[in-house]
Amino acid sequence: MSTDLTTYDGLLAAINDPAGREITDPATGDVIGCTHEGTVADIDAAVSAAVAAQPAWASRPVAERNDLLNKAADAIEASAEALAQLLSREAGKPLNGPNARFEVGACAAWLRANAAFVLEPEVLVDEDGTHAELVYDPVGVVGAVGPWNWPMMITVWQLAPALKMGNAVVVKPSEYTPLSVQGLIAVINQVLPADVLSVVAGDGAVGAALTDHDDVDKIMFTGSTKTGQAIMRSAADNLARLTLELGGNDAGIVLEDADPKAIATDLFWGAFINTGQTCAAMKRLYVPESLYQEVCDALVEVAAQMPMGVGLDENNVLGPLQNKQQYDIVARLVQAAKDGGATVLVGGDPQEGQSGYFYPTTIVADIDNDNPLVAEEQFGPALPIIKYTDLDQAITWANELEVGLGSSVWGSDLDEAKRVAARLEAGSTWINKHGAIDPRVPFGGVKKSGYGLEFGLEGLKQVSVPHVISW
Ligand code: NDP
Repeated sequence: MSTDLTTYDGLLAAINDPAGREITDPATGDVIGCTHEGTVADIDAAVSAAVAAQPAWASRPVAERNDLLNKAADAIEASAEALAQLLSREAGKPLNGPNARFEVGACAAWLRANAAFVLEPEVLVDEDGTHAELVYDPVGVVGAVGPWNWPMMITVWQLAPALKMGNAVVVKPSEYTPLSVQGLIAVINQVLPADVLSVVAGDGAVGAALTDHDDVDKIMFTGSTKTGQAIMRSAADNLARLTLELGGNDAGIVLEDADPKAIATDLFWGAFINTGQTCAAMKRLYVPESLYQEVCDALVEVAAQMPMGVGLDENNVLGPLQNKQQYDIVARLVQAAKDGGATVLVGGDPQEGQSGYFYPTTIVADIDNDNPLVAEEQFGPALPIIKYTDLDQAITWANELEVGLGSSVWGSDLDEAKRVAARLEAGSTWINKHGAIDPRVPFGGVKKSGYGLEFGLEGLKQVSVPHVISW
């Protein structure tokens, strides 16, 4: 029986498995629905079907695949409100602000952007009777494994370029947000041929069955450094290609000539987007002594204007932590800051007995650079602000961790900001903004934040195999 995927009830009915595992709303504890729990056998079946479907998909003209990506974006837009409600309930994120509706909108935008990219053959040599061209062929079957924080958007980051380049894709969502990803893929699959895109929900062992699979030629992984390392080891067996987008602990550096009031709102969202549960969110902020008090005051003032609560309430722009494990990490790190003598300017004190994994918006000052809240990734709504007196020292602090995903520099003199940006060890450095991603601009990490790039033409190349043709 087909259901109407443009309504919340229809979408949920299409993916709900009454015999499966209950999924609860992290804001209320209410049961949303039940997810099918896939097995290793389901992974084997999905990969076999993908292997069989991929050649016909790859043999279509790229214009046809682009057309279907645009139709998938149309389908997402037709189901946008249903998808946003499902995402809001399952991930806890508010409908408004840079949250659930924003995420669903980004899914459609990323599909359209990928449909519009043109990856031309590269002419390498064309002289004296010698010619060589580099073209990009499909890899084959792509295994896509993602996290729970931006479950729909990150899945689209993985599948859109892969499908465009003629690959088949098997997705394994996080066990915390399986319904959102299954809902998204049910909507997209209304327009794609059978077996080109499939999803198998399940735990880490099901994820490992996908990433270890001999017939998976490329793995797109977003998640923790630890899991990324495990995937890299297992990929050695069949030499699967890898794109690893791993954790980060992004630094922001405010320069002496910044205007605290003018940058406060962008600083806030740089740190607190998705209630801090964002890989490339600003997770530690370095501020010169001369501006320290003003920046702290301006951030506290912005924080006071940002309501936190249940996602389906239209007023809220911040929500709960998505799961207990992440709540405990944030609580432990804020406690470490208190124990270390730091000053909690706002928040830091969750209410006893409340339902949901709400941790209040927390801003911490007078904190040492080696405090765990600075040195470890909090992945939640708690920002440490570290005072510096010497810019070189701040740059050293920004660079001294093992990770390097994003970073930012905040100041009025663009040339000076660019000079500082060039000294930061990160895959992306933003000036006067943080975490501003764009489907045309490559994104990826250095050091233990992973390797490989997503987005733009570079992203297309990474779900392809290079093929040189010479004559
Ligand atoms: P995990 O690494 O725990 O999980 C990510 C995904 O991998 C999940 O789908 C998980 O399944 C699956 N998985 C677990 N074990 C294995 C395995 N052995 N082989 C294959 N797949 C496996 O990360 P989280 O979900 O906890 O996400 C949070 C982390 O992700 C943070 O550290 C954050 O920094 C990082 N992150 C990075 C981003 C980036 O772009 N660089 C973006 C977003 C998050 P299951 O859930 O069932 O265990």
